[in-house]
Amino acid sequence: MNTSARLARDIDGKAIAAQVLSEVAADVRELAQQGVTPTLAVVLVGEDPASHVYVRNKILRAKEAGIRSLERRLPDTTSQAQLLAVIAELNTDPSVNGILVQLPVPAHIDEGAVIQAIDPIKDVDGFHRENVGGLVQGHDVLTPCTPSGCMRLLLDTCGDISGLHAVVIGRSNIVGKPMATLLLHAHCSVSVVHSRSVDAKALCRLADIVVVAVGKPQMIDADWLKPGAVVIDVGINRIETDQGSRLVGDVDYASARTVASAITPVPGGVGPMTIAYLLKNTVIATHLQLKHAALSLLPTSTQEA
Ligand code: NDP
Repeated sequence: MNTSARLARDIDGKAIAAQVLSEVAADVRELAQQGVTPTLAVVLVGEDPASHVYVRNKILRAKEAGIRSLERRLPDTTSQAQLLAVIAELNTDPSVNGILVQLPVPAHIDEGAVIQAIDPIKDVDGFHRENVGGLVQGHDVLTPCTPSGCMRLLLDTCGDISGLHAVVIGRSNIVGKPMATLLLHAHCSVSVVHSRSVDAKALCRLADIVVVAVGKPQMIDADWLKPGAVVIDVGINRIETDQGSRLVGDVDYASARTVASAITPVPGGVGPMTIAYLLKNTVIATHLQLKHAALSLLPTSTQEA
């Protein structure tokens, strides 16, 4: 049996997110001196209670960081055309810097069409194809918030991760794939494991860094980990226990921390980073728009390609 001295240390997502938010607030104050107030538009379609909670939290945190937010609440009966019209209006509104459509949208609306309708330079979720492609090619684009937050946790925890072997469990467009891309840009050797991987556990046991985004409560335990691995648990799952319901990750925290060197708890790990990076992206979007506006004032011959 391991003693507590050998348990992994917690990676404190709340503290690191607070640091990110204070950097965002400092940036917002600088922009204010130029007469610019970063503005985030949040569009919420329908009555999903969880989505309402997420949106409320995002707006609250935005306010704390000095970011103006505007909320567009639309009924469940909103047609795709009506939603696209709202997005088109926000795209052309020069006072709006970031647009977030809270997902999921009701089933009668095509999520892909909604994502593609957002101007890539205002796409603070980083899901638009132009941003996805830009990320893969290593351009300065808006990058999905959760993987960006995970990278910050890793860099704050490990320092240089260049050359390490990272395994990402899960290959979704919003977490797994962009996560793998960011790790590759940080010069890790990256393996991506998914539901069809043969002997995923053996592959995972080779990893110095494990990022888990499978959506399966407590699936990854100590047996999946190399001693000393750093574990980032993206999962958020509500489970019922004898003591009532509670949130758990995709990692069996109690088991994994007996082998890992550092691990994110759930809650209090990746979750706070996602909102922090949404606000960071809003500020990044504002800077990108200012840069584009300045470039468009230059004579064509002097503009960058
Ligand atoms: P998805 O359901 O979109 O993707 C899950 C991935 O896990 C898929 O690629 C799937 O493989 C893979 N998978 C499923 N079962 C296994 C298995 N047995 N072995 C290996 N791989 C498997 O989930 P998301 O990426 O959207 O989310 C993952 C988790 O992260 C969820 O718990 C979600 O709630 C949480 N989340 C948390 C956020 C935060 O802010 N903390 C933000 C976003 C998500 P395949 O592709 O083959 O089907």
